[in-house]
Amino acid sequence: MRPRIGLTGGIGSGKSTVAQGFAQQGCYVIDADRIARTLTLPGGAAIAPIAARMGAHFIGADGALDRAQMRDAAFRDPGYKAQLEGILHPLIRQQIDQQYQHACDTNAPLVIFDIPLLAESGQWSPRLDQVIVVDCLERTQIARVQQRNQLPQAAIEAIMAQQATRLQRLRKADWVLWNETLSLQALGEAVFDLYNELIAHYRLLQPD
Ligand code: ADP
Repeated sequence: MRPRIGLTGGIGSGKSTVAQGFAQQGCYVIDADRIARTLTLPGGAAIAPIAARMGAHFIGADGALDRAQMRDAAFRDPGYKAQLEGILHPLIRQQIDQQYQHACDTNAPLVIFDIPLLAESGQWSPRLDQVIVVDCLERTQIARVQQRNQLPQAAIEAIMAQQATRLQRLRKADWVLWNETLSLQALGEAVFDLYNELIAHYRLLQPD
């Protein structure tokens, strides 16, 4: 078994950049967002249950989830969102578990569980050994996302309002990466330092 390290952060915190840094150190990164997207692409494991339980009209001609249709339905009736999540969440957990089993067959010293909404649900804590939170000021989150996605500030604030607050997220943290004053290069170095601390931590726990 390998240490299971959760990685989370609000939008624009730098979480994806940190995940890349851990991958560069040889860690196995499980990307929950990517798994969720793949489930609703043509041939994805969520397509058949969505069609059967929610209606075939939610599946587009290309065989993928019709996101616009689902968004409209969920906007009118939040029950649709809950129903979709009821289908997606067990499948996401199942695929994450499978990837973790696979990761344990590799040489990767640590497995990083990149989970954007880790703090939003109680389901992850029992599945993780420790949690890293990437944190910065909210105004910095907004500035980074504006630059990355050219989104209006109100749209970014709407996304942030649906996410946990910084405090809620920080309460889940065993380790905090304070990505406010760092350059990208310094962030890479901070990830390297944290990687080494984690390795030392788990070697101490498991002397050979
Ligand atoms: P998240 O996955 O948390 O939404 P990203 O890792 O994609 O965030 O980072 C958001 C944007 O901010 C990216 O364009 C990234 O290159 C940039 N960024 C992140 N951290 C820094 C930093 N310390 N200095 C400069 N740019 C950064």
